[in-house]
Amino acid sequence: MASRRGDAPIGLISAIPQEISHFGEAFQEADVAEIGGLAFRSGALGGRAAVLVEAGIGKVNAAIVSTVLCREFGARVLLFSGVAGGLDPALGIGDVVVARTLIQHDYGAMVGERLRTYQPGAVPLPGVDDSHGYHLDAALEQKLRSALDGVSLPGLSAAATGGAPRQPAIHFGTVVTGDAFVNCEATRLRLFEQFSAQAVEMEGAAVAQVAERFAVPCVVVRALSDLAGAESHMDFGSFVHDAAAGAAQLMRRIAAAL
Ligand code: SAH
Repeated sequence: MASRRGDAPIGLISAIPQEISHFGEAFQEADVAEIGGLAFRSGALGGRAAVLVEAGIGKVNAAIVSTVLCREFGARVLLFSGVAGGLDPALGIGDVVVARTLIQHDYGAMVGERLRTYQPGAVPLPGVDDSHGYHLDAALEQKLRSALDGVSLPGLSAAATGGAPRQPAIHFGTVVTGDAFVNCEATRLRLFEQFSAQAVEMEGAAVAQVAERFAVPCVVVRALSDLAGAESHMDFGSFVHDAAAGAAQLMRRIAAAL
């Protein structure tokens, strides 16, 4: 295992090609290692040692690459840059959520036809503590807020929104993670009501679980590609590229500040 020295790399993860592609120009690749059929690309991002990897979709893929980044590369921090579905009706496509809290919404116990969420690894039984979630450390949050202070994302044109042009905003909030693409209005509503979450995706809280195990910090940045309702599969296709570019723009700022 590589030691976690001051020059230890940043581990930077995305799930899909549309997300990782935006780091191409900012990343100077020095070496590629294939582990478990995945390409771990070592190099420099904004002058800092970094290892980039496209994990594939879902919690298990995210956990595999997070573990490899910690064990094989001695990553000092795990970053995830990507897109998500919006849950909070106050947010629109293109808005970015930096996760203050990450929750695996699909781990728990089925009780009365509803999933009662527990912390991954906890015994999901009545009487056992059911508090859950991974939380951003206050000092790290302050660092991220300073790094993003004054940054503005490219505006979305009227053609892109299908309505009024809008300027995407940056929020710090709750992101929930599960192994299903949410393309369902009832599920979107339930997740919003149950967790007061801003966004839903399929990897972030799995990265956080591994980061906690290995005692490294973790930062998840998600731009909304869709609003997780009945149209989300259509919106995803239309907006994934621009949304992922916004998330990557912010993540490059964050990486330079860590
Ligand atoms: N049909 C898409 C599916 C990608 S899955 C394709 O052809 O590529 C969506 C990816 O983006 C996941 O990695 C997930 O983290 C994120 N995501 C975006 N919108 C989401 C939503 N509505 N529900 C869950 N994950 C979403």
